[in-house]
Amino acid sequence: MKFQNIRLIYLKNILLFLFFGFIIATVTSYIQYSVKYDEVKEKLKDESFFVSNRIKTQIKDYINKVEVSINSIHKNKLFLDYINNPNNNNKNIVKYLFINTMQNNNSYFQLRFLDKNGIEKIRIDRNNKKVFIVEDSKLQDKSNRYYFKDTVNNMDEYWYSNIDLNIENKKLEYPIRPTFRVSTKVFHNNKFMGILIVNIELKPLLDNIKNDKHFNIYLVDNDGYFILNPDTKKSWSRYLGTNYKIDFETNKQEDDFTNSYIVSLNKYFKNHEGIKLVLEVKNYYLNKIIENNRNLAYTIGILTLLISIPISLIISVPISKLYMQFNKIYKENLKYVDMIDKYVISMTVDLNKKILAVSKALCNISGFSKDELVGNDLAILKNKKMNNRVCKDLWNNVSKGKVWIGEIENRKKNGESYWIKTTVLPNIENNKILSYSSISEDISDKKIIENISETDKLTQLYNRIKLDRSLENEFNRFKRNKSIFSLILVDIDFFKSVNDTFGHQVGDKVLIEVSKILKENCRKIDVLGRWGGEEFLIICVNTDILGACNLAEKLRKNVEEYEFEIVKHKTISLGVSQIMQDDNIESLIKRLDNNLYQAKREGRNKIVSYI
Ligand code: GH3
Ligand code: MG
Ligand code: MG
Repeated sequence: MKFQNIRLIYLKNILLFLFFGFIIATVTSYIQYSVKYDEVKEKLKDESFFVSNRIKTQIKDYINKVEVSINSIHKNKLFLDYINNPNNNNKNIVKYLFINTMQNNNSYFQLRFLDKNGIEKIRIDRNNKKVFIVEDSKLQDKSNRYYFKDTVNNMDEYWYSNIDLNIENKKLEYPIRPTFRVSTKVFHNNKFMGILIVNIELKPLLDNIKNDKHFNIYLVDNDGYFILNPDTKKSWSRYLGTNYKIDFETNKQEDDFTNSYIVSLNKYFKNHEGIKLVLEVKNYYLNKIIENNRNLAYTIGILTLLISIPISLIISVPISKLYMQFNKIYKENLKYVDMIDKYVISMTVDLNKKILAVSKALCNISGFSKDELVGNDLAILKNKKMNNRVCKDLWNNVSKGKVWIGEIENRKKNGESYWIKTTVLPNIENNKILSYSSISEDISDKKIIENISETDKLTQLYNRIKLDRSLENEFNRFKRNKSIFSLILVDIDFFKSVNDTFGHQVGDKVLIEVSKILKENCRKIDVLGRWGGEEFLIICVNTDILGACNLAEKLRKNVEEYEFEIVKHKTISLGVSQIMQDDNIESLIKRLDNNLYQAKREGRNKIVSYI
């Protein structure tokens, strides 16, 4: 049974630790996942920065190259000769210069010189990779074209067109041809002479831009229309009328750009078209990163869990044993606490003598229930017969923080009394008494025997044993505290004649009646007992000889006036004495005896009280 219990607790502890392990594993992997996720986001941002820089550099280099090639014509001496002197010879030379430039730049598909009135003067075209000179007769007036006007009005060194699709004879050229125009004004002696303009096929550049391993690359114009979209049918949406658009506000329209980065390319295309580069993380790449991250988190979680299994097994053993031990001790303690409650009479009272707690044993002996006692005043248990001196002594001691041990007569619920030997101790904390506790033992039986052994059978007064004990006590008190006491020795006059005349039984009756008179007239604190035969001793506590004489006289008178049942009238003689400094018990009794003897000699029914 016990064995099974240990196993059960062991299992419970293992499960508990595993549960903790599981929680730690979950938390660890979650944290790992979150941290890693942020890292990934950061990494993607860095990567997007890198890719956008690559694209910017490509555009910049490309445009720069175009500018250099236009500039090299513009500054060429042969071209300047032609501007200066536009004869046929010079013109032909320039045509070959243009052809040479076209051949060096495969993406140029038209290079022209227009005079200051917008009339084409030299025009080189490329068709199917073939470069050729357009005949003079086919040259046109382009003075109305936006590119001519814009170039003339342009204040910068170069003018750049929007990126659009080439239009031939007022129709979109198919297959579409992304076109970009760059031009510059030509001056001679500070006089405007015309423009140099090159049409560039942008496809090679765009093809270069749009290739990236990790990002989908979009180019959009200022209004969000796609110039470039990985889904080619969405490219050139403004020009093809498909109107596919990206909404910069919500960043979501046709496509979801949640993981996207937007970079302005205005500075690089230089055409004020507001072209933007949008980098969108490719799904496969994003998924791969997320999956890697998740797998790492799972692995860490599982590893933590695996580690927690042996740890939980190892830790559970001592903890289970400890738990068992603790449990055993706890149960034993409970048993003891229960036993103590059941068999030890105990009580706690506060400073105002209000009962705070009682044991079952106290309830059993007193007959009160716990509810009747707790919260009630201690007086509920107080017996009227209880000696006030004992009470005072008790509270005097404990209120000073001392332990008191003594015998107390208490009252049961039914009015009977019971005796306890009790130890009262103050509960002190920080030098302050908070309450008092008592532990007691039932001494009622002992008290009954004690009572019997101290009681005279005939008169029910104390017997000689008790008187001797009390005498000794009082004498000790006198020695200790200087508290004085006096003695009265009572003797019935001519008692022998009662026996002789009426018989022994009547004599006994007289003894009983005299005892009653004495008892009725003594104070509660006085100790009255049968000293022997027809003699009685009264110990008058805290009383000097005068007080004792008063009592003696009262007793003498009461007996004298009392009418006994058969013998009618009897008298008593009394010896009185007070304890003196040099006395011992013997000397005191001797003096007392002498006084009584003197009273007898003086004619009886008298009191003699020589000190
Ligand atoms: P005195 O006035 O000098 O004291 O005379 P007395 O007769 O009282 O004194 P005495 O000492 O001569 O007699 C005492 C008598 O008391 C003797 C004894 O028989 C009697 N006595 C003692 N104890 C008892 C008792 O318990 N019962 C009865 N009936 N008589 C007792
Ligand atoms: Mg006598
Ligand atoms: Mg006598």
